[in-house]
Amino acid sequence: MEEFLLTIVGGGAVGLATAREFSRHISPEKILVLERHSHLGQEQSGRSSEVVHSGLYDEGLKLKLCLRGNSLLRSFCHDYQVPLETEGKIVVAKDKEEDKILEQLLHKATQNGVPEIIKINDTKRIKELEPNVNAYSALFSGTTGVIDSMAYLQALLQQTEKNGVYVLLGTNVTDIKPKQDGFTISLQQRNETYNIQTKAVINAAGLSAEELARNINPNNLFETVPVKGLYAVAKNKDNLQIKRSIYPLPWSFEQEGRTFYDLGVHLTPTIAGNEIRIGPVIKVAASKKDYQHDVSLDFFYERIVGYFPNIRREDLREGHVGILAEERNTHDFIIEPDKNFNNCIHLVGIESPGLTSSLAIGEYIWKNCNPLI
Ligand SMILES: Cc1cc2nc3c(=O)[nH]c(=O)nc-3n(C[C@H](O)[C@H](O)[C@H](O)COP(=O)(O)OP(=O)(O)OC[C@H]3O[C@@H](n4cnc5c(N)ncnc54)[C@H](O)[C@@H]3O)c2cc1C
Repeated sequence: MEEFLLTIVGGGAVGLATAREFSRHISPEKILVLERHSHLGQEQSGRSSEVVHSGLYDEGLKLKLCLRGNSLLRSFCHDYQVPLETEGKIVVAKDKEEDKILEQLLHKATQNGVPEIIKINDTKRIKELEPNVNAYSALFSGTTGVIDSMAYLQALLQQTEKNGVYVLLGTNVTDIKPKQDGFTISLQQRNETYNIQTKAVINAAGLSAEELARNINPNNLFETVPVKGLYAVAKNKDNLQIKRSIYPLPWSFEQEGRTFYDLGVHLTPTIAGNEIRIGPVIKVAASKKDYQHDVSLDFFYERIVGYFPNIRREDLREGHVGILAEERNTHDFIIEPDKNFNNCIHLVGIESPGLTSSLAIGEYIWKNCNPLI
């Protein structure tokens, strides 16, 4: 039976970034990454808004890892030629009332050390930046960007494998049994099943991390709420052209006894530049596999026409759907050792800005909750 030092379950941005980080410090051939899909980016990491966030809205561990992740991700994209757009973004207020909320956002961002946030009170200046956007005032964030997430995942895979890590795609983890000095992991590849031994486990299974955590230790009470993010798409040209991401004010809503924080239906120029991604519209999903696009284009239109007045209903078509792994009892990332087995680390509730934070999450685990120590 094969024996590894570290096994990472989940080959999304976080699992791969963590494998890359550990491969810089320990024998890479002792590290194994297991991903159930045969292709990268089938779950959260390949279905996001692709925004490299600045930390503007965040608190706690999310804030810390987003700030650090933003700068690590920029360097990574530069070093490995991953397409990254760095025009920043603007958050718009439509009137005096909304302007007060922008001021609060600015105050919080300044206190939190978020770099390059500038308030723009001059509507002429906003029109110079974005001629097709209407706003009373705006916040400009200079460190926000847009990334080609699939190219990022490919680059992470390449770097990780080049370092010598084994990454097995199309390999489903069906069971993890703790034993005295590690874990026995059961794997399924097509119709074959295997067992491997590992000293330590990092559970980076995204939407399935809660189930894996319970499989390892039934005392784990994580509860993931699958939250659907739906998109529409329009052409990025003529009187719809935008240069950078445009966000309305963030807001929150209550559903099923939980508060959901929503950044608002925003506009993001895709990395190719020829389209605008509009969304996400956020709602609780019927299940973790509920990828059905069930929000009308009228709804998208109504959400954006106030600040994007040239848009017409017929300019819109349906875009993709992603599902975020939100944790019921916290709005922060959970990155912690298992309560009974400290050679197992669980990553739960790694929703937005998890793509931005991915490299920083790997670094954080290595430095702060290393399952090999
Ligand atoms: C709609 C939406 C918009 C978002 N927008 C942004 C954004 O603009 N900016 C940003 O920074 N973040 C954004 N995010 C969040 C970001 O995408 C995630 O935080 C990040 O991708 C999480 O990466 P991950 O590797 O933890 O999870 P995932 O990408 O979900 O990867 C987990 C992997 O584990 C695998 N897995 C699960 N169970 C098993 C098993 N038993 N055996 C083997 N493999 C298994 C899955 O197949 C999956 O590939 C968004 C997410 C969504 C859904």
